[in-house]
Amino acid sequence: MSTQPLQPKPAPGLVQIGANSEAAIEAIIQARLAEERARLENEAGLQRKEAHHFKKPVEKPFTKQQRGHTTLLFGGLTWKHEKLLHAAFESLGYMAEALPTPDVAAFQTGKEFGNNGQCNPTYFTVGNVVQYLQHLEEQGMTKQEIIDRYIFLTAGACGPCRFGMYEAEYRLALRNAGFDGFRVVLFQQSGGLSQSDCEAGLEMNLDFFLGILNALNCGDVLNEVAFAMRPYEAEANSTNETLDRAMDYMHEVFRKRTPWKLEDKMSGFLGGFSDTAEYLGKFVNQLAGDDMTASLNRCRDMFDEVEIDRLRVKPIVKITGEFWAQTTEGDGNFNMFSFLEREGAQVMVEPVGTWITYMIHQVVQKYRDTKGLEEGAVLPPLWRLDKRVKIEMNHRSKLAKLAIAETIFKREYHRLVDALGPLGHHLADQYEMQRIGHPFYNSRAGGGEGHLEVAKNIYYSNKDLAHMVLSVKPFGCMPSTQSDGAQAAVVSQYKDIIYLPIETSGEGEVNAHSRVQMALGEAKNKAKREFNETLEKIGWTLDQLKQFVDEHPETKRPMYHVPHTKGIVGVAANFAVHVAARARKENWTPKVQEFAGAVN
Ligand code: SF4
Repeated sequence: MSTQPLQPKPAPGLVQIGANSEAAIEAIIQARLAEERARLENEAGLQRKEAHHFKKPVEKPFTKQQRGHTTLLFGGLTWKHEKLLHAAFESLGYMAEALPTPDVAAFQTGKEFGNNGQCNPTYFTVGNVVQYLQHLEEQGMTKQEIIDRYIFLTAGACGPCRFGMYEAEYRLALRNAGFDGFRVVLFQQSGGLSQSDCEAGLEMNLDFFLGILNALNCGDVLNEVAFAMRPYEAEANSTNETLDRAMDYMHEVFRKRTPWKLEDKMSGFLGGFSDTAEYLGKFVNQLAGDDMTASLNRCRDMFDEVEIDRLRVKPIVKITGEFWAQTTEGDGNFNMFSFLEREGAQVMVEPVGTWITYMIHQVVQKYRDTKGLEEGAVLPPLWRLDKRVKIEMNHRSKLAKLAIAETIFKREYHRLVDALGPLGHHLADQYEMQRIGHPFYNSRAGGGEGHLEVAKNIYYSNKDLAHMVLSVKPFGCMPSTQSDGAQAAVVSQYKDIIYLPIETSGEGEVNAHSRVQMALGEAKNKAKREFNETLEKIGWTLDQLKQFVDEHPETKRPMYHVPHTKGIVGVAANFAVHVAARARKENWTPKVQEFAGAVN
């Protein structure tokens, strides 16, 4: 006979609760829920679709062995930057090819193969890559050969705007275009191959980054000088011809450059310290070397052969906006620079260097705000003084390193500006930009150019550097849309500013040009008024100025130094003030006496 106590039987309809039965009940509930959802969806005519999320495709790594037969494709800047980058890559032993400037057809290709709702730099860029690959195919290469022999090298970041999505978008569009597995390699990011892995195809080491920075900086200063001269050239196209010559020359300089290396004998002698010694040697070579400045001196002399007429009254238009849209020189910004020049303006382009110093600055701000602590970390209690001191020391050392990086970058950049003569500008100080931009746009808000767009508008107008600020940004650009809101407050406070934001969408060029024309009309009047007022102030006529110039041919040289006078923006007006001062000093008196009238 059993000795076990009798268990009460569950009442009919009740289920006994135990671990297993709880799970069974949950399963029944979920099944009923699913049935009911399906019935209701059926009734409402809703079809449930399975989501197929895009996953990063498995890509073949780019290895050192492939370097000899793999070409790096890159682009997204001006042809001047790209030409020098091309030479820098070649000098480091890479095969490289700059992509052509993206056009509307590239934009449409990007739209065809990409996701909806992307920013248009993504469409232009990836469409441009796809077009290039399709072109290779048309020339007889198979898809597999293209995938094996080319990679796309681009910048990447984690956002916070849609920039963080670019890499995935590139891959998706390339897959949709039939180039599944085409390699997209990012720098500034440690995805894929390690940056320090010496077997990686792309060795992102000090030589690589110094090569890129030197190329970008030289590209910036050469680009700026050409834009400053072109509107005043006496003979049409003489600036562009000289620029071509200078760029060819600089391409050779970069191509023949060899990275500094510790001699073998020295390396053996230093043993375990040889890596550190080589690292330091490269830095010292960069800081003390004069090959770049000497080469730019030569370009300066080439440019100085062009004759210019500074007495043409032209409004200076400063370009700002979203990084890609303000840099590209094609359909991506409605060919805005050539349009402005045709319309009689002098264009002041934005150097890539500003963006680099802005990025360093933002990291400095972040370290200052967080003391270098990761998100969610808490400071140790006061009695753990040792830990607190360690955090403080770490934080100070990081800030010191960043301050050194910032100082070195600016010093190197300014050496190049000065080597190319008096036409270029030093970089705007990021602390000043923060100070003037922050009251309108929180300087800690990241994405795009952050507070820079607002700050530049005030900076260039307040410092008498531009008659008008034109901000070009892709349609729907999130940070730019925010800063446009803030610009309303800026222009209401700074009444003299002529500011125009233009959204570039890949279409609608005529509309954008006509809006620019209207604002430019105002800027032209401003420039003319300024010149006429200056003539009145100095008591000179245009004819008298012309006479001075004819008798002093050195003033027709672009590298002749004309100081900037406070309160005066235009080249012609600044020149007039300078001529009057010089004539006074030299006791030069004009022969042309009658008043030639105002400039109209
Ligand atoms: S800055 Fe604007 S255009 Fe550029 S990625 Fe961000 S949202 Fe897009």
